[in-house]
Amino acid sequence: LQAAFRNDLSSLLDLIGSGKESLIFMKKRIRRLSAQWLLAAQNLEQKLMGRWRDQKRILVHIGFLTEESGDVFSPRVLKGGPLGEMVQWADILAALFMLGHSLKITVSLKELQSSLGVPPGRGNCPLTEPLSFDLIYTDYHGMQQMKQHMGLSFKKYRCHVRVVDTFGTEPAYNHEEYATLHGYRTNWGYWNLNPQQFMTMFPHTPDNSFVGFVSEELNMTEKQSVMMNKVSNMAVVYGKDASMWKGKEKFLAILNKHMEIHGTVYYESQRPPEVPPFVKNHGLLPQQELQQLLKKAKLFIGFGFPYEGPAPLEAIANGCIFLQPRFEPPHSSLNHDFFRGKPTSREVSSQHPYVEHFIGEPHAWTVDYNNSKQFEDAVKAIMRTKVEPYLPYEYTCEGMMERLHAYIQHQDFCTTLPSALFNTTEDVTTPFSLLVNGTYLIWPPHGSSPPSWPPKSSMKAWVSEAGHSCIETCREHGLICEPSFFGLINKRRVFEQFNIRCNSAESEMNHLYPAFAENNKECFLQKDSLLFSCAGYNSKYQRLCPCRDYRKGQVALCRDCL
Ligand code: UDP
Repeated sequence: LQAAFRNDLSSLLDLIGSGKESLIFMKKRIRRLSAQWLLAAQNLEQKLMGRWRDQKRILVHIGFLTEESGDVFSPRVLKGGPLGEMVQWADILAALFMLGHSLKITVSLKELQSSLGVPPGRGNCPLTEPLSFDLIYTDYHGMQQMKQHMGLSFKKYRCHVRVVDTFGTEPAYNHEEYATLHGYRTNWGYWNLNPQQFMTMFPHTPDNSFVGFVSEELNMTEKQSVMMNKVSNMAVVYGKDASMWKGKEKFLAILNKHMEIHGTVYYESQRPPEVPPFVKNHGLLPQQELQQLLKKAKLFIGFGFPYEGPAPLEAIANGCIFLQPRFEPPHSSLNHDFFRGKPTSREVSSQHPYVEHFIGEPHAWTVDYNNSKQFEDAVKAIMRTKVEPYLPYEYTCEGMMERLHAYIQHQDFCTTLPSALFNTTEDVTTPFSLLVNGTYLIWPPHGSSPPSWPPKSSMKAWVSEAGHSCIETCREHGLICEPSFFGLINKRRVFEQFNIRCNSAESEMNHLYPAFAENNKECFLQKDSLLFSCAGYNSKYQRLCPCRDYRKGQVALCRDCL
């Protein structure tokens, strides 16, 4: 079936259950942004010029909202609890729906079981019917539930799963055997998925797929009116929970010398002690009203927590300048409780690395808060700086739909290259046959063409400096690491093409390979495709890196990827 863009979101709202505050929040958000979604769908439809798009049957199982996983979020929606995940799920639902796919949404184990065709009470048995979905969007909690209730079928169908995973999962943590052997500990389990099946909130590592969320986009007239009505001495503090203000008296006092400070901190009856009397606290605001406040404010200021949320993008989109602390040393799962147990060793260089690296000045300033003078100078300079509201294309409704469209039509984790082929020196892009365990294997199967998205024409390989990851290496060349291309460069002759003379070329399981060790001139090839990793680095190795070009404002897609 061909998917047709939708022109109305109301039937999506009917598909989302009710009762829970979290669902109410998501529905309100979808309703509030519906005009933007509609317009974006029209624009994308024109851009794609009637191209064929398969309509997919999609199950969306929001695991963290199920009672069975404890649902700690719903009761805190109106009390300053985290909302980022709900923002993201609401936007994923809206985007999938607007793209014209057929959706089933579940937020309880019972609904999940009945959607999958597991008779209640049957527990851990294989499904009797074939899976009636092409894709399943879920999260770590949901995946755990599916594993428990699909039995062996989970293994069979896991290639259909897409895991919405805010902070990302690096390949070394995803691979059960490797992670266990080498101490890549996670609280979230080892799932042996293709790392691109994990979908992140920001483009953290290209090992995962960046799905994102959206922020409100202003048109020219709205932008002008926002710029005219800015109050140059008005600041809003980032932090809806009082605990985020703890120990920040010093900064608040400095800020108070120059600006009128507003907060949106949840409180029950009295002002929380962490919020000084000179702050105008509005209490937790509905999203709509927060946007209004941001339209007036000049400065949106972070004190280090929460990490990597949606609010700074909303602030910048409404013409604020975001001021945030630099973290030196960077925070990560190795040194900070918040990240401990998360399946990534990513180093977080500031409260919001995306705005630091992808947006930067004049919209976002990252400074050392330990240096009071630097902090105060930044505040003063920001008050004098004129900026326009800015939203990167990838965070607009059209950008998000464009990216999801490309993933849905092109990403295929069910047809993969048989792992036996990784040790060959053959060029696996051309059809061939190979004797594996006594039978001839023909590649590609059924005479189809091998998966070739992103198109190979966008690839450019580079050798990293020792100690650099492929993320950094590609970035240095104005490119982005593309994990799907690792298979193409995991070959001895590629080392030769780079004039690297190998004394030996072993094939081993290591998330840093393919790589070259300068000290004894050894080359290493990757034995297990699940371990291909853009993120890994080690001072001993120069890595072979597959990079590709990308669209301006849409880093997830190469120029010819649409
Ligand atoms: N938000 C809100 N009212 C407020 C403060 C924040 O509705 O008073 C919303 C905000 O619009 C954003 C969401 O909360 O979309 C999540 O914001 P944050 O960046 O704080 O991330 P979190 O830590 O909640 O995931």
